[in-house]
Amino acid sequence: MEGMFTVDGHCDTMLRVMNDPDYNFFSENTDGHLDLPRLKRGGVNLQVMALFVESRFKPFQALPRTVEMTGAFHRLVDSRPEELKLVTSQKDLEVLGKNPKKTGLLMGLEGGEAICSPESLYAFFKLGLRLVTLTWNQRNQLADGVGETCTGGGLTMMGREVVGEMNELGIAVDVSHLSEKSFWDVAGVSNKPLVASHSNAYTLCDHRRNLKDDQVKAIAESGGIIGINFSNYFLNGTKNAQLEDVLKHIDYLVKGWGFDCVGLGSDYDGIGFTPTGLEDISHLPVLGRELISRYGETNAAKIMGENWIMVLKRILPSG
Ligand SMILES: [Zn+2]
Repeated sequence: MEGMFTVDGHCDTMLRVMNDPDYNFFSENTDGHLDLPRLKRGGVNLQVMALFVESRFKPFQALPRTVEMTGAFHRLVDSRPEELKLVTSQKDLEVLGKNPKKTGLLMGLEGGEAICSPESLYAFFKLGLRLVTLTWNQRNQLADGVGETCTGGGLTMMGREVVGEMNELGIAVDVSHLSEKSFWDVAGVSNKPLVASHSNAYTLCDHRRNLKDDQVKAIAESGGIIGINFSNYFLNGTKNAQLEDVLKHIDYLVKGWGFDCVGLGSDYDGIGFTPTGLEDISHLPVLGRELISRYGETNAAKIMGENWIMVLKRILPSG
C-alpha cells in the first residue's frame, strides 16, 4: 500500500484560490477538501487542477477570467518548486514517478469558452494547459453541455477543429459535462484516448452527469479512462453517501469493462456533499486499502493512479 502512485483527475480547488481570501493552499484548512498538506497525507502524486470558469463570467469575461486563473495556477506552482512539479509532458510523468515526495499538478480547463480558435488553444498549450473539459453544463462555441436538455446540439465546427488540434498538440479531451450528442461527436472525431475526468455510471445512478453503458464502452475501447466522482448526488442521487457507494461504481465499471479504464476524479472543492469515509483528499489511502482487499495490489494500483498515468502518457507530448 505504501508508495501506491495516486492520481486524482479533477478538483475545483482553484476556485478557492481565486475566491476565498482565508484559504491557503499550503497550510491545512479546516474547511473544504483539498490543500497541499492534505494532498500529502492522501498520498497524491498527481492532481489535475481544473480552472473552472464560473457562469457569471460567461461569455464575455470568460477569456480574461481564464487568463487570471492560469496566472494564479502558475504562481501557486512556482512558489514551492521544492514541493510541487508542473506536469506537461510524458517526461514530467517519468520524473514525477521517481520523486515520490513531490506533488505533480496538471493544468486543466473546465469549460472551453476561452478557446475560440486553434491559435488561442495553442496559446494556452504554451502556458501549460493539458486537459480541456470542452463544456461545463452550458452550450459554448465548441459544443453543447449536458444542461442543454432540449437543444439536441453536439460538437460545433469550431469544436471539431479544436479537438483535432488537441489530439495533435497533446491535450486530453475531457468528455465529462458534454451532452450525449456532443459526446458521440467527440468519440467520432478524436483519435486519442477519451477521458471522462469526473463522471460515474448512469446505470447505478441516473444523474445526467453520469455515463450510460454505451458511453463507458466507447471510452474503454478508446483506451481512455473514467475518473470516479465523489459527489454524493452522482453516487446515489441523494445528499448522503458512503465510501461503499464509490466502491459500487468502481465495481460496476471494472466488472463490465475491465481494470484499465477506471481511475479517480474526486471533484473535491467542486461538490457540496462528500461520502462518509472520503470526506476530503486525505482519506484516499482508505479507498486504496479497500481496493486492495477486493481486487489485489496490481488492480488496485491501476485504479488509484496507474491508469491515469498510462492514458496521459498516450496523450501528452513527449518532452
Ligand atoms: Zn465539473
